[in-house]
Amino acid sequence: AKEREAALAGQFDTALNNMPHGLCMFSADGRVAVMNHRFIEMMQLSDDFVQRGASATDICNACVLSGSISAAAAQQILYEIESSQRGDIVTSDPDPTKNRSLDWTFQPMAGGGTVVLVEDITERKDAEARISHLARYDELTALPNRVNFRDEIGRLLAMQHGDHRSALLFVDLDQFKQVNDTLGHPCGDQLLCAVAERLREMLRPEDFVARFGGDEFVVFQQNIHSHEDAAALARRIVDRLSERYKIDNHLVEIGASVGIAMTAPGVGADTLLKNADMALYRAKADGRGTFCFFRDEMAQTVEARRILELDLRKALANEEFELFYQPLINLKSGKVSTCEALLRWNHPARGTVSPVDIIPVAEDMGLIVDLGRWILRKACMECMKWPEAVSVAVNFSPQQFHQRDVLSEVRYALEVSGLPAHRLEIEITESSLLHNTELTHDVLSQLRSLGVRISLDDFGTGYSSLSYLHNFPLQKVKIDRSFLEGIDSDRPLTLLRGVARLSADLGMSVVVEGIETNEQLELISADGAVTEAQGYLFSRPVPSVRIRQLLNASHGRRTDEQLHVVPSRSIA
Ligand code: C2E
Ligand code: MG
Ligand code: MG
Repeated sequence: AKEREAALAGQFDTALNNMPHGLCMFSADGRVAVMNHRFIEMMQLSDDFVQRGASATDICNACVLSGSISAAAAQQILYEIESSQRGDIVTSDPDPTKNRSLDWTFQPMAGGGTVVLVEDITERKDAEARISHLARYDELTALPNRVNFRDEIGRLLAMQHGDHRSALLFVDLDQFKQVNDTLGHPCGDQLLCAVAERLREMLRPEDFVARFGGDEFVVFQQNIHSHEDAAALARRIVDRLSERYKIDNHLVEIGASVGIAMTAPGVGADTLLKNADMALYRAKADGRGTFCFFRDEMAQTVEARRILELDLRKALANEEFELFYQPLINLKSGKVSTCEALLRWNHPARGTVSPVDIIPVAEDMGLIVDLGRWILRKACMECMKWPEAVSVAVNFSPQQFHQRDVLSEVRYALEVSGLPAHRLEIEITESSLLHNTELTHDVLSQLRSLGVRISLDDFGTGYSSLSYLHNFPLQKVKIDRSFLEGIDSDRPLTLLRGVARLSADLGMSVVVEGIETNEQLELISADGAVTEAQGYLFSRPVPSVRIRQLLNASHGRRTDEQLHVVPSRSIA
C-alpha cells in the first residue's frame, strides 16, 4: 500500500510540475499545502514555503519583494483568497518594461481552503492588441483605416453642434494604377506612403486623415468657417500631391481629384461619405486634377441610376426584354443574308428603352453576361425559324467576349437551339480586340474552328486600326454609319472605298451600316467592294413576327420575283 501511495504521489508530483499554470493551494487553516515549480518560477520565490507552512500573506509579501506583483495586486489577491469565492483577476508586472500580464483564478475547495491558478497571458494579450491595431490601421501607411475613420467621424459628428461646420474630403489619386503597373507594386507601395506623409504634413492636429483602401484617402477637416476653407484645402491637396515624387531613383508624377461634402445637421457619417464619393465621381468626370462639392442633384442622378439598375435586374427575371431584327442585304443577290439581333426593353413605365441606354449600364453592373447569354440563346432559337440561307448576327460586349467560358457559352447556345454554327455571326467591337491580344486571338480562332463567323462592328468609330483587319481572324467588317456622313463629298467616300477594298482583299465581307437613301446605296455599291448593306432604306429593326414574314416573302418560292426588289426599294 505504501508503495502504491508513493507511486501515486510521484505521478501527482509530475502532473503538478508539468502544467503550464502556476498553482498554489491553501488549506482551510490558511497555510499553503501545495505550490508547484511553475508558480515558484513565475513569482521568483524560494522553494521552502510549503515546508515552512507559510500563510497567504507571507507568500504575497514575498511576491511583492521579488518584484513579481505590485503591493496593490497583493492586496487584491489576499482579498480573493480570504473571500472563499470563485474569482478572477489580471495583474501586470510592476516593472512596465517587462510587460507581463498574469491571469489569476481563485477556486474555493469543498472542505475549506482555496486553489490559486496563475496563467501567463502576455502573448495572448499582445496578439489581441496587434489584431485590434490591424483591424483599425492600414498596415502600409499606418494611417487609420476605413473602419476606424468611420467610427471616429461618427463620434466627432455626434459631438458637433451649433454653427461649427466641418468638411469631408474624399481624395483619389489619378494615374496611380499606371505607376503601379509600370514600376511594380513595391514602388506603388512607396508612393502611397509618400502620399500619406504629404497629407499628414498638411493637416492641423484636429484634422483626421485615413486610407480608405487602394489609392483612396479621406480627410476630415474640422471646425471651419465656410466652403472656401474646404475648397482651399482641396486645392492645396491637389497641388501638393501632384508635385513630383522620387521613388527608387524614379521621378514619378501623379495627380489627385477631390470630392467634398460639408457636414450638415442630421447628416450622418455614412451619408457624408457617400456624398463626398459622389462629388469625387463628378470631379473625375470633370477631367481629374480638380475638386468638386457635393450637390443634391448628384444624389438624384445616382438614385435614378440605382433604380434603373434594379429595374434591369427585374427585367431579366421577368422577360421584359425582346429582340428586334434588322436585315443585312447581300448586294449581289439582293437577298437577306443575315439578320442582326438588336435588344429592346419594354418597360411598363419607361416605354421602349434603347440599347444605347441599357448596354453600358448592364456592362457596369456585370449584368451583361447573363443578359448576353439570354440574347444569344434567344437569337439562335429565332434563327431556326428562318429560311436556311439566312444567318443571325449577335452583338457581344467586350466583357461577354472576355468571360472565361465564352466558347462553351456559344457551343451551348448552338446545341440547345440546334442552329448550325455557320449560321451564327458574332459582332464584336474594336474594344474587344484591344485587351489581352494573344488570348483574344486564341478565342477568335477557336470560335472560327467551331464554324462561327466573327464580324467587326462599328469600324471607323474607334481606332480603326487596319492592323486589326490583318491580325485577327475576322470574316466581316461593318463600316459604321458615321462614314456615310458627307459621303457625297470626296474624302469619306475615298476612305470608305479604300477600307472596303482592303477588307475585300483580305478575304472579308464588307457591310456598310445605316444606309438610309438610294443615293447612299448607289455611291457605296458603285465599285463592287461592298458586299452587304444594312439600314432603314431596307428595313428598320422589327419584332420577330415581322422579320419572319419578311423573310418568308423574300425567300419563299411564290414570291421568287420579289427577291430582287432590293436594293432599289425598302422591303419593310
Ligand atoms: P450596332 O450593333 O452598330 O447596331 C446598329 C444600330 O444602328 C442599331 O441601333 C440600329 O437600329 C441602328 N440603325 C440601323 N440602320 C440605321 C439607319 O439607317 N439609320 C440610323 N440612324 N440608324 C440605323 P440600336 O438597335 O439602337 O442599337 C444600338 C447599339 O446598341 C448597337 O449598335 C449595339 O452596339 C448595341 N446593342 C444593341 N443590341 C445589343 C445586344 O444585344 N448586345 C450588345 N452587346 N449590344 C447591343
Ligand atoms: Mg451590331
Ligand atoms: Mg454597328
